[in-house]
Amino acid sequence: MQPQFFNVINDELRGSEKTHAVTDPRTEENLWPCPIASTDDFEDAVAAARKAFTTWSRTTVAERQALLVKLAEVLEQNAGELAEILARETGKSQIVASIDVNGSIAQCLYYSQNALEDEVQFEDETTKVVATHIPLGVVGAICPWNFPLILSNIKVVASLVTGNCVILKPSPFTPYAVMKWTELSRGILPPGVFQVLNGGADLGALMTLHPGIDKISFTGTTATGKRVMASCAKTLKKVTLELAGNDACIVCADADLDRAVPSVASGGFFNAGQVCVASKRIYVHESIYDDFLARLVKEVEASYAIQEDSAAPSVFGPVSNKMQFDVVKGIIEDCRANGYNIVSGAAAAASAKPATAKGFWLPPTIVSKPPENSVLVKEEQFGPILPILSWSDEDDVVRRSNLANAGLGASVYSADLAQAERIARRLEAGGVWINQFERPNFGAFFGGIKDSGFGGEMGKQGLLSYAYTQCLHFAK
Ligand code: NAD
Repeated sequence: MQPQFFNVINDELRGSEKTHAVTDPRTEENLWPCPIASTDDFEDAVAAARKAFTTWSRTTVAERQALLVKLAEVLEQNAGELAEILARETGKSQIVASIDVNGSIAQCLYYSQNALEDEVQFEDETTKVVATHIPLGVVGAICPWNFPLILSNIKVVASLVTGNCVILKPSPFTPYAVMKWTELSRGILPPGVFQVLNGGADLGALMTLHPGIDKISFTGTTATGKRVMASCAKTLKKVTLELAGNDACIVCADADLDRAVPSVASGGFFNAGQVCVASKRIYVHESIYDDFLARLVKEVEASYAIQEDSAAPSVFGPVSNKMQFDVVKGIIEDCRANGYNIVSGAAAAASAKPATAKGFWLPPTIVSKPPENSVLVKEEQFGPILPILSWSDEDDVVRRSNLANAGLGASVYSADLAQAERIARRLEAGGVWINQFERPNFGAFFGGIKDSGFGGEMGKQGLLSYAYTQCLHFAK
């Protein structure tokens, strides 16, 4: 397979003098050349989007929803190719890459049935007030590398159904599938409505500054999110920030361990822990701690072994890029240097490495009871290493769970739903999952509180961040 990739501007494919190639996380070999958009490409895309917006913004919701169905069809027809590209650029297995594609199809179809509606907000004998939702203009979508397609596509679909134009900027670590997807969708939407530009932080920064862009929807780290917000303030752009998480998972004494253990393992190690809402700190009631830990180690060793072949039906792959590989290795080193109890993973590292000894592979690593102020507990690891802590007092575990620097997701496992809900309602997180690991639902609002985000996306509430609410006041 030797695919080609292009920026898509005004429905035309554009190469570039400057290209870069992503490093295959499984083999460390260079993948394919990918054009880097120039400043002129960016200006052309903004101009095309602004032009397109004048007519696109006047289409009806029903017209736009019909086009979302067509986009879903194109994704469906090209699902195999897109999944293969995704698997190569992220290091995911084929099976996990397919989740990214199938989820994107489902997003298109969901929003082809669900959109914002006008609403009567007040009515009496003299006045009727109808709230309607008008598009913002041009959305700049700045995306991360962990689920390249689905996390970009949600911004595309939300922009389109609300009547906005959208310019996508994928992460330079994973540009290929997103660029191919935009290329494949040409001809469905009017030129300029959906465009893609490949570039890094400099292009992202330009997007946040340009007066021709009305909103930035950003997903990435908290540090970059703060830069994005400061930059957007200069032109008073609307901004949505989906940022880092450090999810606490609380396992109560009465949890059904036959179900909880595999679920916690998935929460921590699915996609090698590179999930914004992965379970990142596990708090287990002290009365079941030893049993839970022994079962978790067994489960992880059985179900999350390194498998070099991406066709193997594995949900565990390498870390997706060298930058993150070094971050996670640094955390493992910190645990070693401080003498923390590494009960699984790192010790087996040598034998677990694939025969080629190439690639950003790290075995799933479990650390028992590192201190609360260790890097592993305090900071987001975003990789395959998980601290297992213990608790005995409900107030205490809630206090420890509610870190000042994170509030994305959390999970609670208990046979007593009243207890689980009581704890869940005390957790400072945008979403809390009960007796299941954290899995966003694209029909439900998703956003982080505190340092994990600003606003949110998905569901009808998420669509509101892609629209102005305009009130029509009718005199009777
Ligand atoms: P990142 O912040 O390094 O990069 C994200 C995007 O921002 C990239 O496209 C990058 O090129 C761009 N960028 C970098 N500097 C910029 C700047 N100054 N101005 C504008 N754009 C700039 O994040 P990442 O490493 O790609 O993603 C991983 C992080 O994303 C993790 O912390 C993870 O938890 C988080 N994440 C959050 C969610 C969520 O929904 N809350 C979902 C997925 C990932």
